[in-house]
Amino acid sequence: MHVLETACSFLAGLAVGYVIASLTESVLHQRIGHAPRQTVERWKQGSLPLRYLARIHYSHHVVHHLRTFRQDHVTQFRSIQEREQVSSELAMLGAEGEQIVRSGYGLRLDGLGGLAFVVPLLPALPWITSQTGASAILGAGIALALPPIFSHFIHPYLHMPHAQALQQAPKLTGWLLRRWYFRVMARHHYVHHRCPRTNFNLLLGGDWLRGCHRTVDGAQRSAMRQLGLRVD
Ligand SMILES: [Zn+2]
Ligand SMILES: [Zn+2]
Ligand SMILES: [Zn+2]
Repeated sequence: MHVLETACSFLAGLAVGYVIASLTESVLHQRIGHAPRQTVERWKQGSLPLRYLARIHYSHHVVHHLRTFRQDHVTQFRSIQEREQVSSELAMLGAEGEQIVRSGYGLRLDGLGGLAFVVPLLPALPWITSQTGASAILGAGIALALPPIFSHFIHPYLHMPHAQALQQAPKLTGWLLRRWYFRVMARHHYVHHRCPRTNFNLLLGGDWLRGCHRTVDGAQRSAMRQLGLRVD
């Protein structure tokens, strides 16, 4: 195969994978991470895969959104006491709760959390199998891996003042955080925590396609600036 052809099919795979991954991330984050109460109650009564969804909801909606970062977007706990309070409640849940503590109280994907992202592979499967080129599959695979990678390696730094994030992040992550795409992601995620009915993506685009995208408003912009988050 020609180099140009290989490159084109790699890029086609990347593009198709990107759109699918972004849409799926948006849908899963909304429907699982922020599932309605009745749905979660039903999951809790269900079999193991459903109970697992209830646990993702708990770790994300309850712990990451409601029990932590109560003061503001960059302060996970207001005091040591608050941290201990949350930790001891989680400890009562046993292994499940310990797993959530280890994930930084829902700040990173815990254990099997990344598995939820395997789901995007399913709608992509017919397309992938129709492609004979390994380069298209490679491109799609890279794109589909981005949401769990961003959740794990980028999300914690979105909850830090920009200067602190650059100081603590590994070199490559720090370089990425200064780029336009990741600055937009940081603002997008800030708005998500103010309004959890919008802005589900870290891999940008899907929210916009689904019509659940909101840009940062004037008041949020000045609040972000006060917290040391970059708004440009
Ligand atoms: Zn967050
Ligand atoms: Zn956005
Ligand atoms: Zn969320």
